[in-house]
Amino acid sequence: MNVSIIGGGVVGCTAAYYLSKSGHSVTLFEKDEIAAHASGFSFGGLLPPLINSKDPLLSLSHFSLELHKKISFDLDQDGFNYYFKRKNSIHLAKKESEMKRLLFLSNQVFSHYQNKPVILNNSELKHIEARLSDKVIGGLHLNCSYDIDTYNFCRSLWESSKKFGAKLIKKEVTKIEVNNNSVKGLKIKDSEEIIPSDHIIVAAGPWSKFIFESLGIEIPLFPVKGQIVRLKTISPPDIKVNFWWGPNYLSTKHDGNIWVGTTEEEVGFNEKPDIQGRKSIINSSVEIFPFIKDLPEVNHTACLRPITKDLKPIIDDFSDLINGLVISTGGGRNGILFGPLMGLRAAEMVMSKKMSIDTSFLSIKRFSI
Ligand SMILES: Cc1cc2nc3c(=O)[nH]c(=O)nc-3n(C[C@H](O)[C@H](O)[C@H](O)COP(=O)(O)OP(=O)(O)OC[C@H]3O[C@@H](n4cnc5c(N)ncnc54)[C@H](O)[C@@H]3O)c2cc1C
Repeated sequence: MNVSIIGGGVVGCTAAYYLSKSGHSVTLFEKDEIAAHASGFSFGGLLPPLINSKDPLLSLSHFSLELHKKISFDLDQDGFNYYFKRKNSIHLAKKESEMKRLLFLSNQVFSHYQNKPVILNNSELKHIEARLSDKVIGGLHLNCSYDIDTYNFCRSLWESSKKFGAKLIKKEVTKIEVNNNSVKGLKIKDSEEIIPSDHIIVAAGPWSKFIFESLGIEIPLFPVKGQIVRLKTISPPDIKVNFWWGPNYLSTKHDGNIWVGTTEEEVGFNEKPDIQGRKSIINSSVEIFPFIKDLPEVNHTACLRPITKDLKPIIDDFSDLINGLVISTGGGRNGILFGPLMGLRAAEMVMSKKMSIDTSFLSIKRFSI
């Protein structure tokens, strides 16, 4: 089977990995570089989202985390390292109301966990990180979370796919060609040639919407910009857990730098880091960790999360409309966590394989399309 994948982010690379490993002929189309956008510049924290325990997305998050573990084991055997490791997370609260919410969500989300998260007060938190501000009144300590370097994760998936025969074409896809309700192939920028394909997976992050526009299909997807500032560690110790509060986070990452984020900006397809973003990140972080105030900046990045109206991914084939077409995008703030699941399900749809886990509630039809 000849499969084209559009997008070399976490979703496209994972789909390429599963398909090429299963012996299919895979061509990945990427307009820039592998992991050149959100998938290469995200924070890389993997932890269950704090959502209602009845939300089916929660079991998908557990399932995807298990896929992460399996991929990490397999890629490690092949000599790839992307710093996948267990790393505890702490959700922090500055107010009683935030603490109450954390307690409520903790009971919801982790009701079936063997190792339940632990609620800690400020002095208990200071045993873990002495430099924490007194403004923090408490936190929820999770020992079921993981951490990765997402750039090397995508690169490792891609290098492994290449070993199984996958090919990369560094071109922008401009159009999907359809004939008699079936995918025929695709066109790339500055060429009228149709590159034939039996199946096409659109995993182009927020840009997926433009690819569907060329088919007259409106995908309810939009970009939300997020920025991260990396600061130089002047004096040890490293910050050994991932701290989260509101939309923010902070930790020492695999490169030895302290990564602080983030923003949530609806500013279209603008991926430029800017001073306002930096200011809002640093101000919020200094309140929690005053010691970072004067640390020198190493790097400041911005990229776009693909987001849907209901904050859930879209994983679907268009079999009743166009045979051979699959979409997998909309991972939002948890796109790295969900990446393996989204890539696997896209690959299964192409191979017409039984679902490893039910993702039918993530069909595009929920938006009446
Ligand atoms: C600051 C920040 C921090 C984050 N932290 C986390 C985190 O800690 N944990 C977590 O789980 N998630 C996190 N995320 C979310 C996560 O990074 C994204 O949801 C995920 O990377 C999206 O992956 P993707 O493959 O769908 O899209 P992308 O990574 O955007 O990849 C899409 C690719 O498609 C290519 N493309 C687009 N159009 C075309 C075309 N026409 N032709 C060819 N190629 C095309 C693009 O160049 C791009 O490389 C974070 C996001 C941000 C912004």
